[in-house]
Amino acid sequence: MASSTGEKGLIVSFGEMLIDFVPTPPWTLARHCPGGAPANVAIAVSRLGGRAAFVGKLGDDDFGHMLAGILRKNGVDDQGINFDKGARTALAFVTLRSDGEREFMFYRNPSADMLLRPNELNLELIRSAKVFHYGSISLITEPCRSAHMKAMEVAKEAGALLSYDPNLREPLWPSPEEARTQILSIWDKADIIKVSDVELEFLTENKTMDDKTAMSLWHPNLKLLLVTLGEKGCTYFTKNFHGSVETFLVDAVDTTGAGDSFVGALLKQIVDDQSVLEDEARLRKVLRFANACGAITTTKKGAIPALPTDSEALSFLKD
Ligand code: ADP
Repeated sequence: MASSTGEKGLIVSFGEMLIDFVPTPPWTLARHCPGGAPANVAIAVSRLGGRAAFVGKLGDDDFGHMLAGILRKNGVDDQGINFDKGARTALAFVTLRSDGEREFMFYRNPSADMLLRPNELNLELIRSAKVFHYGSISLITEPCRSAHMKAMEVAKEAGALLSYDPNLREPLWPSPEEARTQILSIWDKADIIKVSDVELEFLTENKTMDDKTAMSLWHPNLKLLLVTLGEKGCTYFTKNFHGSVETFLVDAVDTTGAGDSFVGALLKQIVDDQSVLEDEARLRKVLRFANACGAITTTKKGAIPALPTDSEALSFLKD
């Protein structure tokens, strides 16, 4: 329920925000785009009319201040952002393979996002979250890993619903085994987990994409497990029911950020009424809207510029 003052519940997203350098015609040029899954989720929530805050660390450099400005411009609370005096904002260099898929190389040497320390966390902000969302990149190294663990603990103790999208970026991890171990090490803390089909295969080491494989990731405290399947929509699992919801046919030009848009739309719709998670018909409606937001995001280039507003999503659903 919304608070008695009518204020909407706050969704706090924790983790990295960085600059992607994306090749652009005539391919010797690159344009820089803001990126980072947790930041995308915060902006997705805010564009849809929800209340969002971002917690993370940026370099005290032009890129860092530009990224903080993008969050503010999109209505995201920036009181959880720290700036590191020494390290630079994280950078990713994107190359396009001949089959159209993207490959990433990262500047993390270490970058500012990895240097967030537990004592730098804005605990008051984290305690005011109704939903606390995070990924797994912040688990890769210290001190950010300890900051991640503390933020999660504080949010949980204060009663927040924990939402986890591992958002695997395999090249960033020392090895696939390390990625699997660390990602799964915080699995049973989350109330909601969203994985893509690629992550499901990676985490379970099973190529059979069926309900049994997905359910092998179930844990007893989980309220909702989601597997997103790109143009095939998503499947959902709760204690009492499971099923799938189709997405929409669109001319997809760039799928970057589709999963973050989906997650933002999901969290924005459940933050003030978590009973949705126990009612299949209502949950299916919520997932239809989340699929619509994911689909819309694929129709434009880049992640943040493609995240829909509430009215864009509603008029897409009316057409
Ligand atoms: P991720 O970006 O995390 O890999 P997906 O690619 O599965 O996640 O996309 C998330 C959601 O976005 C999907 O469940 C679907 O609703 C929507 N989506 C993604 N790609 C397409 C597409 N090509 N056509 C329509 N909807 C899509």
